[in-house]
Amino acid sequence: MPPVQLYTDVALGVAIPSRNARGRIARLASTVDAVLASHGYPPVIERLLAEALTLTALLGALLKEPEGQLTLQAQTEGGAIDLMVCDYLRGELRGYVRHDLEKLAELPAEPTLQQLFGKGFLAITFDQPVSEERYQGIVPLEGRNLAEAAQSYFAQSEQIPSLVRLAAEKRDGHWVAGGLLLQHLPEGEEGRERLHTRLDHPDWPHVAILGGSVKPDELTDPELPLDDLIWRLFHEEEEVRTLPAIALGRGCRCDPDYVRSVIARFPADEREAMIGDDGVIRVDCAFCSSSFAIQPSELA
Ligand SMILES: [Zn+2]
Repeated sequence: MPPVQLYTDVALGVAIPSRNARGRIARLASTVDAVLASHGYPPVIERLLAEALTLTALLGALLKEPEGQLTLQAQTEGGAIDLMVCDYLRGELRGYVRHDLEKLAELPAEPTLQQLFGKGFLAITFDQPVSEERYQGIVPLEGRNLAEAAQSYFAQSEQIPSLVRLAAEKRDGHWVAGGLLLQHLPEGEEGRERLHTRLDHPDWPHVAILGGSVKPDELTDPELPLDDLIWRLFHEEEEVRTLPAIALGRGCRCDPDYVRSVIARFPADEREAMIGDDGVIRVDCAFCSSSFAIQPSELA
């Protein structure tokens, strides 16, 4: 296999063993454009979804199983957005944002997280089918931005001191988004049981300061390889390890046969009510905006 290029559409694992820190760094370019192309969202929603997809990639890259799935969901009320869903499977990302255009138009150009979402929750679900591990953490959606909300997710739901940075920028008409996730796991390597996670461990503030010094335009610079950026941040450490890179892309898993089988399970009178004026049942995929036309005769 050719080596994965560490510029865009890739996630890279990072470990700083002497500081008991590990993390992921990711950058998305064509993946974000491909996801956004099927939606036609206003710029403020595009930026938010670009950051959310990057966060989803960072979290998805933490999954131990290749078939594992990660879902990020914000469910809220009272804001311009009432639902945002992103997910990750085998490096494939997808997402959508359900929003109210009228409410959005009333917001300032750079709205706060609270103005966008109102009041609600952020749910993150790690699903690892082989070991049958399913873990969902839910925290209030709080903070100045999505990165802060993710940080409080780790602090509250997993009790892991964490740093999350996200940035998204449109460069020459194309989106580039980048993110960094660092975590303190004092009992050593990834996968081992954590015995003494302490928020005041002296190693952690050091890592958090170095990691926190990353600039948004470094995260979104498509010409700066991710391993170079990690080196720039942590070159004074005793040892910095990078783990195998994961290639990222856009992928939707909607399937006309599956949609048909779901509709076929509805009672006949309910199916009847779904038939449109054109004589077919139309089902749209919220993630990729594909529209499936199902002939009622196919379901009989
Ligand atoms: Zn789809």
